[in-house]
Amino acid sequence: MQNAKLVAKASSDHKTIVQLSDQVTVGGQDLLIVGGPCTVEDSKQMEAVASRLAVAPVQALRGGVYKPRTSPYAFQGLGLEGLNILAGVRQRYGLPVITEVMAIAQIEEVATYADVLQIGSRNMQNFDLLKALGQANKPVVLKRGLAATIEEFVMAAEYILSHGNPNVIMCERGIRSFDSYTRNVLDLGAVVALKQITHLPVIVDPSHAAGKRELVADLARAAIACGADGLIVECHPEPEKSVSDARQALSLDDMVNLAESLQPIAAAVGRTIPSGAGSLPRLSLV
Ligand code: PEP
Ligand code: MN
Repeated sequence: MQNAKLVAKASSDHKTIVQLSDQVTVGGQDLLIVGGPCTVEDSKQMEAVASRLAVAPVQALRGGVYKPRTSPYAFQGLGLEGLNILAGVRQRYGLPVITEVMAIAQIEEVATYADVLQIGSRNMQNFDLLKALGQANKPVVLKRGLAATIEEFVMAAEYILSHGNPNVIMCERGIRSFDSYTRNVLDLGAVVALKQITHLPVIVDPSHAAGKRELVADLARAAIACGADGLIVECHPEPEKSVSDARQALSLDDMVNLAESLQPIAAAVGRTIPSGAGSLPRLSLV
């Protein structure tokens, strides 16, 4: 791997544990299971998601408020209103939240509300954005580009570390190929390779890889079996009504069932899944 200095693994037990909140980490023995909608739509939706996932073996919430949409006419996200909704459930349920930043100008604002900043696939090689994230004081989930090689993915992470932020979580989310049956092709080979190349945590997004909800749970279990440090999965109280990515959204019941089904697989590969934030609601984050 050319020029990968800061992200390169120095020895087989070299690993970085990224802290999302006081209680939640990724990259150590504990797996990180993240659930939530593609897009934050309103407070009722996020309340339903958070109240259900807080009592499941799920440790963090996701939800986009700045959305990269293929069509400029599609819903672009609630912006600041969405950040306030995320901040509300974060505070009420004690679950850290992950949301995407698409531009340098959004970093400061998003970092004041969210625990983790997501860089979407379409921005994996937005080098100015990566450099600016090096200066951010929050961990970053870096998603693999739609057609990025493993080397390009690793070097994108190197940009963030080399500009000062050591807390990067890599996310395999499928790459584009010739077959349109699945939305993308989940590259579990990349997960295994990344775990050997870098000391950074590697999580898997089976939702954007599959594009179809009936494929998500099995891919998620395969990801944990092959050594992923966690999952980020889209779910919604009324999946077919999701404003974006409806076809791949799990119901909340299916999300909880998936999280619970991971326990024996985690145990088989020497990992543990912490229980959720606990009883509802809890005020552990400020
Ligand atoms: C998302 O997480 O909703 C998203 C847009 O993902 P990706 O950047 O992987 O397409
Ligand atoms: Mn999505």
